[in-house]
Amino acid sequence: MQEKQFEELKLTGSLPSPTGVGLAILQLTQTEDFTIADLSRSLQADPTLTGRILKLANSAAHSGTRTVTTVQDACVRLGAQNVRNLALGFTLVSGHRSGRCKAFDHDLYWSQSLALAVAAQSLATRGGKIKPGEAFTCALLVHIGRLALAAIHPDRYAVVLEKHGAGSMDELALLEDEAFGSDHRELAEAMLADWRLPESFAWTALVFDRGQALEDRRDDGANDLAKLVRAAWNLVPALSSLETTEASACKRAFAAAESVRNELGWTTEEFDRVFSSIAQDYIDWGKLMGLPVPRALGYDSLARKAAEVRVDAAAPTAETKIMPARSVRPIEAANATGGLRVLAVDDDPVMLKLMSFHLARAGHTLFTATGGRQALSLALEHAPQVVVTDWVMPDGDGVEFVRALRRSAQGKKVQVIMLTGREEEGRLLEAFEAGADEYLPKPFNPQILIARVRAGQRTVQMYEQIERDREERDQQLAQLAVLTRKLQAAALTDPLTELPNRRFAMQHLDQEIARAATSALPVSVIMIDIDKFKAVNDAYGHDTGDVVLKEVAQLLRRSVRTGDRVCRIGGEEFYVILPRTDLAGAVLVAERARVACETNVIRKGDFTGAVTISLGVAELDPARPSVDALIKTADVRVYGAKHAGRNRVVSTGEVPASTAIQRKAG
Ligand code: GH3
Ligand code: MG
Ligand code: MG
Repeated sequence: MQEKQFEELKLTGSLPSPTGVGLAILQLTQTEDFTIADLSRSLQADPTLTGRILKLANSAAHSGTRTVTTVQDACVRLGAQNVRNLALGFTLVSGHRSGRCKAFDHDLYWSQSLALAVAAQSLATRGGKIKPGEAFTCALLVHIGRLALAAIHPDRYAVVLEKHGAGSMDELALLEDEAFGSDHRELAEAMLADWRLPESFAWTALVFDRGQALEDRRDDGANDLAKLVRAAWNLVPALSSLETTEASACKRAFAAAESVRNELGWTTEEFDRVFSSIAQDYIDWGKLMGLPVPRALGYDSLARKAAEVRVDAAAPTAETKIMPARSVRPIEAANATGGLRVLAVDDDPVMLKLMSFHLARAGHTLFTATGGRQALSLALEHAPQVVVTDWVMPDGDGVEFVRALRRSAQGKKVQVIMLTGREEEGRLLEAFEAGADEYLPKPFNPQILIARVRAGQRTVQMYEQIERDREERDQQLAQLAVLTRKLQAAALTDPLTELPNRRFAMQHLDQEIARAATSALPVSVIMIDIDKFKAVNDAYGHDTGDVVLKEVAQLLRRSVRTGDRVCRIGGEEFYVILPRTDLAGAVLVAERARVACETNVIRKGDFTGAVTISLGVAELDPARPSVDALIKTADVRVYGAKHAGRNRVVSTGEVPASTAIQRKAG
């Protein structure tokens, strides 16, 4: 994804992003020289977060070592960078548990991400190549692009998800790309890079959920992480299998898990043990994060259930399916009748009955609770618009409940009416400070109660209107960003071959060269020119020439690897930009492209035959990291290839020191 496009999306303010402690940590760690003491201080501001970090530091991955009890020690054990990344991940989970996209189940999304994280962590512990903490964080966030699309385009993403049903991730990416001009993979890549998470995370996001098996495309360790997360992804359906799961789904889940077992070369018994420990970890983590986590079938029950169906061509599905769109929860139901959703809280059942009776008769929908704790969970579940609560209750007082309620995002919008007895009258200020909006002395007059609730309705409606306006504005901004993006994409695409054009190539090269300079990784470029192309045009006409160009574009696209970009820079000339690739690697790709063209027969009208190409390959010289120097070198080498007889790859030959190269324009 182009940086500019991503910046625009950021400006809409709808992208998921860390808040509170997560944001503080993100800012603190923008520089490389933050200390463990700084980090611990920020973390301690959030006790839940601290608990989660400690849990990870003490998890099975570190068994046999002493238990750590302070964040400081956890930082030492896990590494400060790891702790920072984890903290970022956890605050994202807490901050994005719900959203407006009705077909996107946020809880399901996070519990699947958690399954992925726990599985990846466990595989990393056993594999030894990747740090378990790193695997956990990467896997937890690697699908963040889906969450982001749901946040940016709540309505349109719902349509995409419904169309997608339970299709594959490749199908989802295609639909996303069609609707928004980019897919969840590219978006995740950009977001993870933006949060300064390791580059291997971004790479993993880009490739791990593809249907096509991963080849060894990189030798800097990023592939190991991508493969590990991919294996973990194949365990997610098994971790979500339940008694109620259809046998055919169990069959798919089992086949996917078996593909992991085979790849790792483990026996069934070994795998069974590992699987149960992952499933147990998953449950523990679910509790810690407050996420709904199913108790999965054991591996042997899954195998048995899978065996119940006979499916022909039982090829293991390397593609893990995501669960289908959920049914929409009727949260706004009460509004339809003009009444409000009211939560009445009182430990006295008679009082509760009385309130319910009057309020229900006035047309409101009632939820009732007899204590603060029950009230809080009902409030979070049903999102009432008005709360009427008693002050004194056996499990803590009403003031405490109101204070807790106001701390949640949901509870900030609620209108709270406090019932007060004679004893509490002197302490009214306390109730208002905790967040009550109104009070009503007991015994209450039903007419007054109803009038107060009605008055609350106006405030509630005002809040809701503000919310709707804000959503509408976000929506418009997001649409504008998409439109701009589409226009930009058009300006960067060659209409004949649909490849990125010269302008894109130059921007992309700039970006890759800047990245190479900071990461100390190589970058190469291949310049390609079709041989004797003018002769094709002259003999068979321009239309045939166009078809040849399109076919060559296709062949080039198929010859390169994920992450490499083929661009048409004009006429019959192309560039391939290869990040993280040295000269030898680029020559291999070039040779593959050359053979692909030479052996491919094109048929159009009277023309039947193959065309050949000449290729010049150059690697960026770190001592002279300039786009100009790089493409000039590639250019000289294409010229060398032509000179040597065409249809070949040349990777030697330099730009003469003081001569400007003169070439005919393509
Ligand atoms: P060489 O092997 O030296 O590269 O020979 P060549 O004939 O390929 O080189 P030359 O640069 O002389 O010819 C390029 C031709 O590409 C000339 C031009 O008509 C043709 N061309 C450029 N753009 C297009 C296009 O969009 N469609 C078609 N059909 N032809 C194009
Ligand atoms: Mg040519
Ligand atoms: Mg040419």
